[in-house]
Amino acid sequence: MGIQIRNFTKRFGQTTVIDNMNLDIESGEMIALLGPSGCGKSTTLFAISGIHKIDEGQLLLAGEDVTGKPPQQRNVGVIFQSYALYPHMTVEENIGFPLMIRKEAKADIKRKVQEMTELVGLKGLLGRKPAELSGGQQQRVSLARAMIRRPEVLLLDEPLANLDARLRITMRAEIRRIQQETGITAVLVTHDQVEAMSMCDRIAIMRDGKVLQYDTPEQMYQVPANDYVAGFMGNPP
Ligand code: ADP
Ligand code: MG
Repeated sequence: MGIQIRNFTKRFGQTTVIDNMNLDIESGEMIALLGPSGCGKSTTLFAISGIHKIDEGQLLLAGEDVTGKPPQQRNVGVIFQSYALYPHMTVEENIGFPLMIRKEAKADIKRKVQEMTELVGLKGLLGRKPAELSGGQQQRVSLARAMIRRPEVLLLDEPLANLDARLRITMRAEIRRIQQETGITAVLVTHDQVEAMSMCDRIAIMRDGKVLQYDTPEQMYQVPANDYVAGFMGNPP
């Protein structure tokens, strides 16, 4: 499902945090919102998911204007840096939770949890509690839970920030594999240009609520729009 952001503006009080943003994300592609802390990356994700209202502009999902729609009416899954797993629940209960609250039949939930477990590589761990898992495994549970309702859009806000360096590299590849296998449209928020380059089809570099350049990693590295982009991509003039 494609995402179109049209003339997006978001203010907190007097401060303009997103300034007339435009972005087209094609169905099945994974893009990064890349930029320093405070540039408006998370705010953009909150607007796509519907958690935050925007002040001006439009959001189209699969060509449909969903600007005024609440989060439940958008087919979007979200993953945060803190995985926010329920500590008292098992892995199986955590993954199945979004279906349980919709009162789906137990047998259906069990089957879908099984499918998700295979997709994210968590076999044999269904009976454990989150505290009995590694950081990478907790991340996989979080992914499975976000995907179990088969959303058409996956939003990831600094999903790897809490992992150690080695796990981060493994999970970069794993998230990309899952994204490609499912064909889900994904938006990754990160301040790490290596992460953006290694995981995404296109990158939007942001500063002060504006997109400075939106391009493939290769293009952005080789033909940066300005010195700021060049510096951020690690290829200064
Ligand atoms: P990023 O994710 O790129 O680090 P954010 O989107 O979280 O940045 O924040 C962008 C700007 O908006 C920051 O200056 C931040 O302080 C401000 N901001 C974010 N949320 C709120 C809020 N609820 N109230 C006021 N200001 C906010
Ligand atoms: Mg953020």
